[in-house]
Amino acid sequence: MDKHLNMAPGHGAPAMGDDAALDPVCGMTVDKVNATARDLVAEHEGMTYYFCGRGCKLEFGDDPGRFLDPSYIPSM
Ligand SMILES: [Zn+2]
Repeated sequence: MDKHLNMAPGHGAPAMGDDAALDPVCGMTVDKVNATARDLVAEHEGMTYYFCGRGCKLEFGDDPGRFLDPSYIPSM
């Protein structure tokens, strides 16, 4: 009689759900929970940014404006 609660994971949610963010440096989709757990998060002008790895976070920290420029095209 251990009936499962109604917490079925995933309903075919799109990649960019509430838990996903875009790494502004390389353009990868990043899991927010995972990035937070690994301290791959940076704040800039009131916005929070998530990164796939330390390299991207450091690059962003060097010059955030460069990556937030609409003409910047994320690449690996
Ligand atoms: Zn990255």
